[in-house]
Amino acid sequence: MTTKSVAAATVHGYPRQGGNRELKKAIEGYWKGAVTAEALLATAADLRRSNWKQLAEAGVQEVPTGDFSLYDHVLDTTVAVGAIPPRHRAAVAADPLAGYFAMARGTQQVAPLEMTKWFDTNYHYLVPELGPDTVFAANSAKAVAEFGEALALGHAARPVLVGPVTYLLLAKPAPGVAADFEPLTLLDRLLPVYAELLADLRAAGAAWVQLDEPALVQDRTPAELNAAARAYRELGALTDRPKLLVASYFDRLGEALPVLAKAPIDGLALDFTGPAAGNLSDLAAVGGLPGKRLVAGVVDGRNVWINDLERSLATLGTLLGLADTVDVAPSCSLLHVPLDASAERDVDPQIGRWLAFAKQKAAEVALLARGLREGAVSIAADLAANRADLASRATSPITRDPAVRARAAAVTDADARRAQPYPQRAEAQRARLGLPLLPTTTIGSFPQTTELRVARADLTAGRIDTAAYRERMETEVREVIAYQEKAGLDVLVHGEPERNDMVQYFAEQLTGYLATRHGWVQSYGTRYVRPPVLAGDISRPHPMTVDWYRFAQGLTDRPVKGMLTGPVTMLAWSFVRDDQPLADTARQVALALRDEVADLEAAGAAVIQVDEPALRETLPLRAADRSAYLDWATESFRVATSGVRADTQIHTHMCYAEFGAVMTAIDDLDADVISLEATRSHMEVAGELAEAGYPREVGPGVWDIHSPRVPSPEEALALLRAGLAAIPAERLWVNPDCGLKTRGWTETRASIDSLVTAARTLRAELAD
Ligand code: GLN
Ligand code: ZN
Repeated sequence: MTTKSVAAATVHGYPRQGGNRELKKAIEGYWKGAVTAEALLATAADLRRSNWKQLAEAGVQEVPTGDFSLYDHVLDTTVAVGAIPPRHRAAVAADPLAGYFAMARGTQQVAPLEMTKWFDTNYHYLVPELGPDTVFAANSAKAVAEFGEALALGHAARPVLVGPVTYLLLAKPAPGVAADFEPLTLLDRLLPVYAELLADLRAAGAAWVQLDEPALVQDRTPAELNAAARAYRELGALTDRPKLLVASYFDRLGEALPVLAKAPIDGLALDFTGPAAGNLSDLAAVGGLPGKRLVAGVVDGRNVWINDLERSLATLGTLLGLADTVDVAPSCSLLHVPLDASAERDVDPQIGRWLAFAKQKAAEVALLARGLREGAVSIAADLAANRADLASRATSPITRDPAVRARAAAVTDADARRAQPYPQRAEAQRARLGLPLLPTTTIGSFPQTTELRVARADLTAGRIDTAAYRERMETEVREVIAYQEKAGLDVLVHGEPERNDMVQYFAEQLTGYLATRHGWVQSYGTRYVRPPVLAGDISRPHPMTVDWYRFAQGLTDRPVKGMLTGPVTMLAWSFVRDDQPLADTARQVALALRDEVADLEAAGAAVIQVDEPALRETLPLRAADRSAYLDWATESFRVATSGVRADTQIHTHMCYAEFGAVMTAIDDLDADVISLEATRSHMEVAGELAEAGYPREVGPGVWDIHSPRVPSPEEALALLRAGLAAIPAERLWVNPDCGLKTRGWTETRASIDSLVTAARTLRAELAD
């Protein structure tokens, strides 16, 4: 290999919202008509300028452009390739900005694009809709303008676009197009459009353009890999083009690595963190990237912990032998982490030392690049400080609680198994609960009204004290219980008024779990969440839900469900520890929940629901890694729930419709009752469960709570009949698809009436 050029620091993308969520405020203001389009665009330009400045000041030599978005970068790509769905074309032509948001959010007349998760992150993108009639047309306006802004500000900049293969693999057949249409068949039509985009960026002065191909880290068929090879052969062969950097992240490139290594492109970005660490040996195995630039993702771009700088330097040292140029970067866009850890003034300073958000990660990659250029001695002081921070984490009583560790180590197989087989439990539960056929229930939450939100805000602001807050919540629980009795529901809930969020509520009460104040991360569009941080060993200093259960149960003779969030979901919607296997963290959370379950049972709860809506979304990207994940995931659920008596009924809940990949896992949970989302798929999941021989009780949802639409009793009845065709009446429950916290009371009352009426009608028929 020839002489190495100088290692630079770069990032793939940066948080968009600004330090005070300025972008959210400006966009929502624009939607309400309170902010003009010009003002919104000016705010956006300010944010981009400030982001580049932050990056440059942190020591990042090449900044990304085009990673910024007013809503979503996949939607931006849809605009850039001209794949505007026909139903949105007039609006986009009339007013590109308003039309852009119409695609994202829909209008009274037209439906938005569908939204789905960006790989295994908690970011959601808008799904491109394509068909055999799709005509692409290049629109480089945004990419060129944003690149021009950075250039004018004096930055060395690299435009970033979603790559053509990933774009097509993320797309779905447009409405009206056959379901088996494969968007990837449009590749030959799309490549000339990318060629034009690249030429435009080249003309604007871009030396490099980054094409993101994260879809290539998933299991791909030979045909898909061939498509990738063809795409980069063709783009690489263009004469009027910038240098091409193809970026991958979130996992190993696997079989796609030799394909891209051989392609006539100029550089490759690889993730070397977490499940992607195998890229290192894979890269050596293909003989490295002679003549190419390697952008090495050695700093975890999707978690909040400081980097092990010495280990990263060692990795980078190895990589120097494998490519022409090695640049240093986070593993993926920093979009997935909060902006600035130094804003967290309330965090225990001991833990604060261990945190690195986007700003800190930018500084880490800059430091590593310097270490690579000038030698480790040039950053000796920083390395020493980093070593001390890491040591303080490894030896802290926060991360090493001997009691928690001893208990986790002592868990036996028997702890993760109910003592009695299901048939025996079912009989004991039937005797204890005395429920009618087709029992009715809800999933947990009732509408989170303005009054409830105001009460919580009042408490946070100190306008009311805990006692006054509690009183307001008690009033709500009283109303919710009285309402459910009147409505004729069989198994009641307390309504979860006291829960801000189903994960955060528990995180706030568990030792070792941390809430942030400003740790906002984009979930979709202008929706930002603040995931709590699993920082240390997890223990439960006191019961978390028992008082509320007791209060609610004291108001009624009908069973009230104890209501908890399961270990897998707690992990999925938090930042997890990176200093121990996920399975270990899950087990600690499970043991804390196990104690809560025991306390609920002791307080009299005959039914305890442990929600696991995230079980499927944390599924590893590569099939080979899935069974190990499902093993610890289901085991942690069972550790949480198996300590109960035979006559205590364990429920679980999930809300999505595609169960294929996790069907066996659902059975492995060994819950007595599972409620599921089923309305939109017309009870399809009931049939799937039946086919798989699922032996226990099932509540496939008969009311789509994602829409304000009220189902009629006839609709609910039709769905129930469909459910009954798959699941025998003795094992069928009647419930909505999910919790009701986002619904209003009017539609809730009407919908529950329909649901109860349908159940009663069917019961009467069955009795005949
Ligand atoms: N028990 C929770 C609720 O009803 C479940 C929410 C969920 O599945 N996402 O709100
Ligand atoms: Zn749900």
